[in-house]
Amino acid sequence: MRIDILTCQPELLESPFSHSILKRAEQKGVASIHLHQLRDYAINKHGQIDDYAFGGGAGMVMMIEPIAACIRKLQAEREYQAILYMTPDGAQFNQGLANRLSLLENIIILCGHYKGVDERVRELFITYEISIGDYVLSGGELPAAIVADAIIRLLPGVLNDETSALTDSFQDGLLAPPVYTRPAEYEGLKVPEVLLSGHEAKIDAWRYEQALARTKTRRPDLLEG
Ligand code: SAH
Repeated sequence: MRIDILTCQPELLESPFSHSILKRAEQKGVASIHLHQLRDYAINKHGQIDDYAFGGGAGMVMMIEPIAACIRKLQAEREYQAILYMTPDGAQFNQGLANRLSLLENIIILCGHYKGVDERVRELFITYEISIGDYVLSGGELPAAIVADAIIRLLPGVLNDETSALTDSFQDGLLAPPVYTRPAEYEGLKVPEVLLSGHEAKIDAWRYEQALARTKTRRPDLLEG
């Protein structure tokens, strides 16, 4: 899978993709991330990519020309199945959307800044508008990193234990059960007996019960759908 991220601050995205699981995905050739500096597509030699809002008011608006030029250049090179815009007024990102996006081959993620992008960018190019939650950040870079992380860890071969992503929260509509590792007892707190029993069916049943109980108390909304 190839993910192209369009941003005016690519430095913000360098670190998340240079470590751990995301780095491994790149090294294994399962996913490749390409960062594009929108200023390289600026409308003039001053590197301008934003301008005052028509109608007045505080805050700059990202112009359509640099974004359109970058997207069209990429589209001329390969076919993109999705062009995402990170925005607080988008649909809230969730595991289901991460699952669907992980099946695509090439996607573009556009990061906004300032007041956001000219509305016509959204009309002309964007296929998914995604929010990571009801709060406003200063740029789309961290949201883009979150979406890319959620997608990439689902790609076959990225996680060491193939089943690991499937037993995470939300995959089966439930939160994940509690997990423990050594020591079996810490300051009097014991790991539940069943987990030490080696009895696989009992362990599975316990995990399911715990997941269900946890979902009922913490996220009853997940059980309604
Ligand atoms: N004026 C806009 C906010 C702009 S914030 C509004 O009120 O809706 C600047 C940029 O940060 C946005 O263009 C978007 O790319 C990103 N951003 C901020 N909060 C976000 C969120 N919750 N989810 C996704 N992207 C977000």
